[in-house]
Amino acid sequence: MTKQEKLDELNKYWQENCKCNLKETATQAVFGHGNANSEIVFIGEAPGKNEDLRGIPFVGTAGKFLEEMLFSVGRKREDIYITNIVKYRPPNNRDPESQEKEDCNEWLINELKIISPKLIVFLGRHSMLRFFPEGKIGDLHGKLLIKTTEEFGRQAFMPLYHPAAALYNGGMRETLIKDFKKIPKALEKIK
Ligand code: URA
Repeated sequence: MTKQEKLDELNKYWQENCKCNLKETATQAVFGHGNANSEIVFIGEAPGKNEDLRGIPFVGTAGKFLEEMLFSVGRKREDIYITNIVKYRPPNNRDPESQEKEDCNEWLINELKIISPKLIVFLGRHSMLRFFPEGKIGDLHGKLLIKTTEEFGRQAFMPLYHPAAALYNGGMRETLIKDFKKIPKALEKIK
């Protein structure tokens, strides 16, 4: 079975069995998307309006910005894999609640286990907090973090500012663009 086939099976299972209450207001589940064999996985927060309508993560303005940054490190969207902590859009794009994150957690963890990427990149503090609950995005952004976790064993992570938050904030935008360019070197460093 290929990784994509395993992901298809996983998504089918969770689409039916996920208990997240956001299901009631969302148009559809937004599955992770991209190259299942990618060595990098990006994890965002939750789908927004465009993602909810199209069923694909990061297809709005934040996604366009993300694509520009990927281009700057010689990669295309099709090369990498993107997903979210929460698979359903929260009403009016409010922050996902702890229970909603918890209800989508097993889905995310199994997704990551199937892909088994070299590097997990957090887009924003919500996804960082899942693995680094004490972490401060202001301190950890752009840093390569190696941690042994229960789920994955030894795993490399890099937190980045969220592209939607950075898009209209000059300083944060520059920092995110700079941090993004550290990804290829980080990949080289990971054994
Ligand atoms: N922001 C996110 O965190 N995820 C998306 O899919 C889109 C915007």
